[in-house]
Amino acid sequence: MTKIELIKGDITKITADAIVNAANSSLLGGGGVDGAIHRAGGSAILDACVAIRNKQGKCKTGEAVITTAGNLPANYVIHTVGPVWNGGAKKEEELLRNCYINSLGLAVEHNVKTIAFPNISTGIYHYPKDRAADVAIASVKEFLETNNQTIGKVIFVCFDDENYTLYKSILEQ
Ligand code: ADP
Repeated sequence: MTKIELIKGDITKITADAIVNAANSSLLGGGGVDGAIHRAGGSAILDACVAIRNKQGKCKTGEAVITTAGNLPANYVIHTVGPVWNGGAKKEEELLRNCYINSLGLAVEHNVKTIAFPNISTGIYHYPKDRAADVAIASVKEFLETNNQTIGKVIFVCFDDENYTLYKSILEQ
């Protein structure tokens, strides 16, 4: 049985096999959690992202790539690109779900036992937090029920009170 944990705090401080970054399609860093991860992890993460870009080009929305975690207390950073909220009729839900499913797929491929997720798309990309929390929890549960043999723990790391309260109430149901 995989454990699902909820933490309020800074994902760059989490000790896990992998932490997930809410990146943008350039993979070259940005604001929010992306900026925090690159700042705390150091240049090895950006170097690895540049190498991936040179090989495959930009990362499409909903897709994920994996790099070293540099100086962070994790082994890997999984960079996934969340959808920008555009009213809800632009496949945002499917794309956000893909972020979680594809990140977990990469985690399994790399034998990750513990993985931490931020609240993808709920910052600069303005996905409504309540809807994003529903999608995040439902996709993770679905993946764990159908595909998982290796992941022992999934941690949802909420940076703000609103997300933390939302996740808490959904997870308690
Ligand atoms: P996006 O562009 O996908 O919306 P953001 O980084 O702007 O990405 O926001 C995604 C979520 O990450 C937001 O809920 C924001 O509060 C949160 N966040 C920002 N900094 C951190 C951090 N250091 N650790 C964990 N979550 C963070």
